[in-house]
Formats: sequence, C-alpha cells, structure tokens
Amino acid sequence: MKLYSTNNPTSAVDFKEAVFNSMPQDKGLYMPLTIPQLDADFINTIENYSLPEIAFKVAKSLLQDAMPDNDLKAIVEDAINFPAPIVKLDENTFVLELFHGPSLAFKDFGARFMSRVMAYFLEEGEKTLNVLVATSGDTGGAVALGFLGVENTQVTILYPKEKVSPIQELQLTTNGQNIRAVEIDGTFDDCQALVKQAFVDDELNEKFRLTSANSINISRLVPQTFYYFNAYAQLKREGKKEVVFSVPSGNFGNIGAGLLAWKMGLPVKQFIAATNANDTVPEFFKTGVYQPKPSVATLSNAMDVGNPSNWVRIMNLFSDDLNALKKVISAVSYTDEQTRAAVYKVFEEYNYVVCPHTAIAWLAIENYRKQFNDETSAGVFLSTAHPCKFPDVYQGEIAESVTIPEQVKALEGKPKQAVEMKADFAAFKNYLLNS
Ligand SMILES: *Cc1c(COP(=O)(O)O)cnc(C)c1O
Repeated sequence: MKLYSTNNPTSAVDFKEAVFNSMPQDKGLYMPLTIPQLDADFINTIENYSLPEIAFKVAKSLLQDAMPDNDLKAIVEDAINFPAPIVKLDENTFVLELFHGPSLAFKDFGARFMSRVMAYFLEEGEKTLNVLVATSGDTGGAVALGFLGVENTQVTILYPKEKVSPIQELQLTTNGQNIRAVEIDGTFDDCQALVKQAFVDDELNEKFRLTSANSINISRLVPQTFYYFNAYAQLKREGKKEVVFSVPSGNFGNIGAGLLAWKMGLPVKQFIAATNANDTVPEFFKTGVYQPKPSVATLSNAMDVGNPSNWVRIMNLFSDDLNALKKVISAVSYTDEQTRAAVYKVFEEYNYVVCPHTAIAWLAIENYRKQFNDETSAGVFLSTAHPCKFPDVYQGEIAESVTIPEQVKALEGKPKQAVEMKADFAAFKNYLLNS
C-alpha cells in the first residue's frame, strides 16, 4: 500500500511510515495512492461472510502487501473482537450499533486496530513507543483500552479535570499496566497544547519515541470501513439492497471511512453528514464557502469540532468537486433542543435509547426521507456511543431504561490512578522525564 499527502500528490510513502508519522511533514493528510476495487463476486455474496471475514478481505485489499496475510488476519481478528450489529427499529429503519467494544464508542475500531498495527511494526530493539493523547472524553478511553497490555507501548493520557463523565473517567484512570492518566487542572485545549508542545521538544524527542495516535492517523480510518461493509451484509440478509447511511459527524473520520468503502465498491445510495451546531460542513454545502470556525459546546460534545480535520480527505476523494460530492453526500445540522427532543421521540416510538450523537443521525434520516419522499431505502443511522456514557442527558423513564454494560460494571470500584497537574509544560515535561 502506498500513500500520498493531500498537499503533495507526487509523494509516496508506505503504510508503516504513514502509521508512525500520522501526518506528513507538509501538514497534509495521507491518502491511498490507489483505491482498490473489491471484486463484484464478493460484494454480490457478502451476506455469506462474517464480520472478521469481511474485515480481513477489506483490509487485505487496502493494505495489499504491507504485511503477510497471516499477520494481518491475526491483527484484524484481535482488534475487531466485538460485534457491530444492525438493530431493526421498523421496516426501513435500522441502527448500526458501534458501541460494543471496550470503551463503548465506535472509536474502539480505530484505536484497537492502530495500536496493534503500531506494535507489529515496532522493530526488535527499538525504543518503547510513547503515545501521548489529549482527550475531551471518548478518544482517551478508546486509545487507553486499545493499547492496554500491548507490548512495547506506553500511553499517557491528558484529560481536563471535572470535564469528562464519570464512566469516561473510570475508563481513563483505572487501567494501570502501560496506561497512565494525567488530570489537568484546565480545559481540553490546555491538554492539547501540552501534548503539542511535547512533540516539538528536543529533549523529549531525543529520549523517547513519541507518537500521537490521533484521529487523522490512516490506521484509524482503515478499520472503520469494515463495519459499513458488514452493515450492508446484514441488510442483504434482511432483504434490503438500497441503503442510506446517516453518520453523526465531528472530525468526519467516520463518514470519511464510509465514503472510502463506497469508492471501493460498496453500493450506497446516499450518505448524510449529521452535525450539531458546529455546522462548518452543512454551511459549506449551502454557501460553497468552506469557513472553519471556533467550536461551540453542545450536548453531543464528541462532535464539537469547528474545523473537521478529515474534511480534506473527503474533498480529495471527490477531486475538490462540490457538485460531485453533493450527489453522494448531504449535510445537515441540529440544535441541542432538537437533539434532546429526538432522544425522547426515539424512546417513545421504538422504546430504544440513543446517545445524543446518535439522536442527531436519526433526525437526519427522518428529515432525508421526508425531503426526498424515500419510502423504500433502508435508512441506517450509526450509533457511535452507548447512552450510559452521557447520563446527564436522560431523566425519568429513559434514565431507568439505560442499561450498564458489563465492561462498565467491572470498572466500578476500581481505584482511580491519576496524577494531578496544573496546565504547565515544565511540570508535564518533568513528569515525562522522571516517572
Ligand atoms: C468521535 C465521535 C463522533 C464523531 O466522529 P468523527 O469521526 O470525528 O466524525 C461522534 N460520536 C461519538 C460518540 C464520538 O465519540
């Protein structure tokens, strides 16, 4: 597999280099030089394959000769060791549940695959890989649990004190082993700034092999294509062939992976990018002007992104042609009030509890159907997190209906292990050097 930088179409690096660099020197993003086509036979009979089989087939076709088949198969099977079921809510409405991994969010797909790929590519005798990650909640949990117990890696997570939910904090701070948590007396932006400064510090770079594990890493995108194919396989078993995917979007990695799957040959009628008040992309669709803005805080906080980093990848897939893009994707944004109302409506109609991010994707499917009078396609909205991660959103009967999965019960009562620190780089550097 060869990859180029979106800022330099003539560059080419191999998969291993793209994984460890995360971002090219020229600050573009890595994209596959060629997008492979899955054979029509496979797509036509995809309903006969399991998730691990589909995942291996898709990964193999993307990664090509980046590693031997047996090694890739082992990585895929170890990383994607939980299901991604579609649940039928009514004749044409399906929810794709992506929250059955250890951190209860879809980011487990990317983080688990990336951690194993990184560990695989570390050569014998090399320094331990030091992963630094700043989190506002969901990313840290997925990265921590993704790397937990992975050899030759150490993960340091920075999170803002009192600004993550109780379950998120448990996921970040109760791991031990090769995972440690730093509780910063500040905001997510402070955490991010400390991590960024560490990456450009000479002394730290000399002593450690630092890497960022952030969401633009190509190895996080690859495994997110798997569940789109697998959803299609499940829909075919239900007798459905025409599908519309609605994706709750922040940094646009998730929908970017869906579009990559479509480019590889997955039949999809339409993608909907559903956002909260951070509506840079929906505004772009309306005005033709791409105008990033500072993020605003919402109920669906994992989508509070004003300048989605994966957007250039999507533009790149469509050769920067907005009209071509509009044939495949539509974009729509919703307020917190609409989000809250949607959580209640879904519960009322289907006796099913959605997290606030997922609620936005459901709204977008409803809206799409009305707008285009589409009464036959399967409308699939992606559920990106388990509702128990956002307890503040629910009251009364809904709150009582939120189940607590076993993974979370197992964390309760485990002691919190976190080092508290002011948002001060000298202190953070000292901690990295001396502990
Ligand atoms: C990260 C996240 C999103 C946004 O996904 P992107 O790939 O950044 O668009 C949506 N929902 C939840 C719960 C998330 O954690």
